[in-house]
Amino acid sequence: MDGRLTFLGTGTSMGVPTLGCECAVGTSADPRDGRLRPAGLVRWQETGQEAGQERAVVIDTGPDFREQALRAALKRVDAVFYTHSHADHVLGLDDLRPLSFAALREGGPIPLYASAETAAALEQIFEYTFSAQATYPTRARVQLKPLAERNAVQGVEFLRVPVWHGEMEIAGFRFGSAAYLTDVSAIPDQSFALLEGLEVLVLSALRYKPHPSHATVEQALGWARRIGAKQTWLTHIAHELSHAETNRALPAGVALAHDGLTVAVTL
Ligand SMILES: [Zn+2]
Ligand SMILES: [Zn+2]
Repeated sequence: MDGRLTFLGTGTSMGVPTLGCECAVGTSADPRDGRLRPAGLVRWQETGQEAGQERAVVIDTGPDFREQALRAALKRVDAVFYTHSHADHVLGLDDLRPLSFAALREGGPIPLYASAETAAALEQIFEYTFSAQATYPTRARVQLKPLAERNAVQGVEFLRVPVWHGEMEIAGFRFGSAAYLTDVSAIPDQSFALLEGLEVLVLSALRYKPHPSHATVEQALGWARRIGAKQTWLTHIAHELSHAETNRALPAGVALAHDGLTVAVTL
């Protein structure tokens, strides 16, 4: 089935421009140097009984989610998958509210797939949403679902791909012939087996200088070669990397993504 992957945001946790910084990338006139916090959107058209219905799965709802949803003209969400509980990936959860009211009218709360650790953090941060005693009338109508190895959303399977983010094991996702791996500092050997035959690979690459919990461009290029996807897109990018300049230096088949970029995927 044909689908589309949209980069809702391609910036690192602080976003680009970074507050208080007037570096060349932060003040660049190239719109591709402006980066909201990292998130992805997978969309496809229903072909069965509800032919024509658009399905939408969001990967992470960071602090820029509302702006990203407006830019992507997102009118409904079928599910959200969370990679991990860091602020740049979860703090926009509350902006699911209007979309969750629509989902509830259609049949039920929006399922949020999260590991036990991520779910515990979400329950703590958004206590007024998830507590059994929650009565706030306009709370998000969302439902945490345990993230399994394989998770089906409206007939499309989202496979969990474990990766390391510093000391934390977090989730990447494979859907069809595409995979989305963010905040990666190491990829366990078993996960490479889940990444065979990819057409589209999304990998995080922070900058050139090493960082304890994020891959450099060099590390990401090494994994990109090993995985061998037809096209690899880099995301979670800091203000050290100029879009145009970095892309000129990258090998064929690897490029920096930018906010709003949409690529075709086979689901
Ligand atoms: Zn992050
Ligand atoms: Zn993180």
